[in-house]
Amino acid sequence: MNIEKLIQSLEAKHPGEKEYLQAVREVLSTIEDEYNKHPEFEKAKIAERLVEPDRIFTFKVPWVDDRGEVQVNLGYRIQFNNAIGPYKGGMRFHPSVNLSILKFLGFEQIFKNALTTLPMGGAKGGSDFNPRGKSDAEVMRFCQAFMVELWRHLGPDTDVPAGDIGVGAREVGYMYGMYKKLARENTGVFTGKNLEFGGSLIRPEATGFGGLYFVKQMLETAGHDIKGKTVAISGFGNVAWGAAMKANELGAKVVTISGPDGYIYDENGVSGEKVDYMLELRASCNDVVRPYAEKYGVPFFEGRRPWEVKVDIALPCATQNELNGEDAQHLLDNGVLCVGEISNMGCTPEAIDLFIKHRVMYGPGKAVNAGGVATSGLEMTQNAMHLSWTAEEVDAKLHQIMSAIHAQCVKYGREADGYINYMKGANVAGFLKVAKAMLAQGVL
Ligand code: GLU
Repeated sequence: MNIEKLIQSLEAKHPGEKEYLQAVREVLSTIEDEYNKHPEFEKAKIAERLVEPDRIFTFKVPWVDDRGEVQVNLGYRIQFNNAIGPYKGGMRFHPSVNLSILKFLGFEQIFKNALTTLPMGGAKGGSDFNPRGKSDAEVMRFCQAFMVELWRHLGPDTDVPAGDIGVGAREVGYMYGMYKKLARENTGVFTGKNLEFGGSLIRPEATGFGGLYFVKQMLETAGHDIKGKTVAISGFGNVAWGAAMKANELGAKVVTISGPDGYIYDENGVSGEKVDYMLELRASCNDVVRPYAEKYGVPFFEGRRPWEVKVDIALPCATQNELNGEDAQHLLDNGVLCVGEISNMGCTPEAIDLFIKHRVMYGPGKAVNAGGVATSGLEMTQNAMHLSWTAEEVDAKLHQIMSAIHAQCVKYGREADGYINYMKGANVAGFLKVAKAMLAQGVL
């Protein structure tokens, strides 16, 4: 495989899609050696076929706001690859959403879902609609208008969306409601549903919980205990909340959370009622963490990122490319031990290169945050069986899955000096599973 040639042709075909090209480059460059051991992959043009989505739906979403004005947003669903199972992946509602961001997320999702050991293909969707500051009725009307177009492309064995940034249980509920009405079916076609109509226990916490299970194993493998370690978390949404809760439970101390306005530093730890307060902050719809500083009398650093704080563990939990080379250098100077991306592609390539060069443990999002979609897979299983498992059962399965992902990363990522390159391990393990499935199913 000639990576540069392939990337160049993608650049020419998809100019300006920088996040998508970034994600493709990362995966292809780490699987190159393994790929070249398999002439059958080259012959079947697996790489060329894998980097293009099976199909993309783009549609307009017209809706009426509370003042009676007509609004028009863009809606998307990218069905990337279904070699190992139905298309599966979240919906992101955020003003920054565009094709490049959804294509990178969909591409990542293929390998992440493969790593979970569950039968799920890769997809992503969303809209440039911003739920912040909108009334409940506006969010409902938008979600309904969105589904009037999208419903015909979904199905429990075809394509199963879920949440992501800007899409939580409320949005999933409204979208699922409209799907059900139009399809005249009550099936598990969305995950992240409320418990009353097919949701799974532990799903809201799963991404953060899974992330901490993974990080704990990374540390243990290198002979460290997570107990007593300090942790910097970015974000204050659902993922950051689950991560903070589990970090506390495992005996670590979370000293930061952040928002678009800056970060707070709480030297006593974001724990107990302060973790619950994150939910209140998020529900306030103002997208700021400053009120935490005022409420608990801790310092707030306006317009800054939490990576300048001295910590043992850094956990990006907000969005893509939120930790750059400069941030990585700060963390290294402060002796960071482990970086676990709980957001998707949270670190820039420069940051990742620095961590790997300095042999700092670095876990990529597609492994570390796979607990979210894995628990979505468990929700699909429960829906298909028409029953629900207890929180303990779901948590035990999540734990098992995260251990299996960790083991795959170690198997394919251990380098000659003993360092575990989790990025390489995750990419190779995820890729091999999908590539073998594609090969077995012929040219499609
Ligand atoms: N948006 C989440 C992710 O990035 C969850 C997707 C899902 O549950 O389908 O993996």
